[in-house]
Amino acid sequence: MRAAVVPGFGQPLVIEDRPVPEPGPGQVVVRMEASGLCHTDIHAANGDWPVTPTVPFIPGHEGVGIVTALGDGVTSLKTGQRVAVPWLGYACGTCRYCLTGWETLCLSQQNTGYSVDGCYAEYFLAEAAFATPVPDEIDPREAAPLTCAGVTTYKAIKVGNVRPGDLVLVSGVGGLGHLAVQYAKIFGGTVAAVDITDEKLALARELDADIIIDARADDPAEVLRAHGGADVAVGLAVDDKSFATAYAGLRRGGRLVLVALPASGTLSIPVFDTVLNGTSVIGSIVGTRADLNEVFGLHAAGRTRVSYETRPLAEVNEAIAEVLHGKARARLVLEP
Ligand code: NAD
Ligand code: ZN
Ligand code: ZN
Repeated sequence: MRAAVVPGFGQPLVIEDRPVPEPGPGQVVVRMEASGLCHTDIHAANGDWPVTPTVPFIPGHEGVGIVTALGDGVTSLKTGQRVAVPWLGYACGTCRYCLTGWETLCLSQQNTGYSVDGCYAEYFLAEAAFATPVPDEIDPREAAPLTCAGVTTYKAIKVGNVRPGDLVLVSGVGGLGHLAVQYAKIFGGTVAAVDITDEKLALARELDADIIIDARADDPAEVLRAHGGADVAVGLAVDDKSFATAYAGLRRGGRLVLVALPASGTLSIPVFDTVLNGTSVIGSIVGTRADLNEVFGLHAAGRTRVSYETRPLAEVNEAIAEVLHGKARARLVLEP
């Protein structure tokens, strides 16, 4: 089978011939139909973060495809079934986090396309318990972006405790942000969307964002303050300065949810203001299997729209360049 492999950090991916993987106990083999290109895959390939994958590795954690083989003991899935394979590739199921609905914080977790090989391949392995069935109504090319961009922003909106009437800042209308705009509205928020490209600002308008802010021309914090300040701000832009701006645009009692992970990203916050204003700064990492089920349920019910274009897996390096230059549609989806 063909797979796109990161040979070393900061190097272009190479298309390699690899054996089709064999399922171990509890695992399944999935024939890839669609694999979303999350900005995290670019961070992974660059070795951007304090904890790096071990090279060489196969990235990709928005993998959707058909189960072709079952390992010993797998009873929850059947061959021929369509599943989605997310970032949370495995969690222990017994620790305090797993037991309290926070499997995304499990210290024993494995991450698809990072600590274990991912979905940029014609076939990939998944733990059966963490491969989520995709409802029949959902096109695999739409299911793929929902598998990370969708579940992550859905969770961020929940973690930010968005309530009807809240002013919600969505900072960055890319793969994650274009879905965040929609979930914020589903939860009853009024949405202010910020980006720095004409295409993404147009997309925000198409998605009925209430306030559109071009950060090249205007200071988002000033615009938000003119509206009384944001109740919730979701940081999805791969840009350090955007977090400080989002923080500055909060109203008293506001919640800043950090999601984007720029290389060595930092945010310095004034203690006095944070205390006096009762501000919360919250980190949010992907979502649980239950969250992903809800995301699929909303999409199957016609409540969300996925903006994507497809590219062949073999053109993964060109696709990465498109994302980095802000040329890509909200999500690029790789096909085998
Ligand atoms: P993306 O490249 O598709 O989107 C980023 C968007 O931010 C683009 O539209 C870009 O134009 C915009 N942008 C850049 N600078 C900006 C600025 N100063 N102000 C406003 N907008 C700006 O990336 P993505 O796939 O949506 O991922 C975004 C980030 O989220 C990445 O760092 C990724 O690693 C991270 N991520 C985190 C989680 C998590 O669980 N916390 C999950 C998935 C992705
Ligand atoms: Zn992702
Ligand atoms: Zn655990």
